[in-house]
Amino acid sequence: MSGFVIPAPQVTSLPVHGSTDRFPVRRIFCVGRNYADHAREMGHDPDREPPFFFTKPADALLTDGAALAYPPATGDLHFEAELVVALGAGGSQVASTDAQRLIWGYAAGNDMTRRDLQAEAKRMGRPWDMAKGFDASAPCGAVYPVDQTGPMDKGRITLEVDGQLRQDACLSQMIWPVAQIIAHLSRLVRLAPGDLIFTGTPAGVGAVQRGQTMTVRIEGLGDLVTQVT
Ligand code: MN
Repeated sequence: MSGFVIPAPQVTSLPVHGSTDRFPVRRIFCVGRNYADHAREMGHDPDREPPFFFTKPADALLTDGAALAYPPATGDLHFEAELVVALGAGGSQVASTDAQRLIWGYAAGNDMTRRDLQAEAKRMGRPWDMAKGFDASAPCGAVYPVDQTGPMDKGRITLEVDGQLRQDACLSQMIWPVAQIIAHLSRLVRLAPGDLIFTGTPAGVGAVQRGQTMTVRIEGLGDLVTQVT
């Protein structure tokens, strides 16, 4: 009889709203600069760039209500409120007109970023992995099935820190809407069931300190609450 030589890693998963079942997570993809006002605040021209992507490890997920231990190697930890798309089907070379078929549900997410490491990586022409893919860098709420939400192409997205509004936008302000994100990403990798896509953040990103509580709120998806400890 053969087996694994060390204990096999657990499958990472998210709760499903209104169910005791869970959504198993395969990979986490993220879109960079998908709202014009955020692209501008980061010093870029939003009209000249196709969508680009980076990843986080699946086990960087942090569920709603779990504490986020302030990560090492940074003095500038930033929040980024984002709509998350959960894929129930995969494919490559997916047409944007066919992309809706891949979507199993949606969640509220927070693309936590070590902004100082990201700035250094940009300056040095190095990868973003250690700025974006650190432990617990992907707080994410329960997955809401698409048959309950409908397409999430409008609706308010906000982030509060200790009750103070810091980000406030509408999902309709995305440069690349969800269907086009899926189409673009599927030309780079074969998408698979269980993949999550963080769809980018609006303007207003900023630093968060130990002891502060972040609340991401997306109309129709409930709240994602994360305290930094
Ligand atoms: Mn982001």
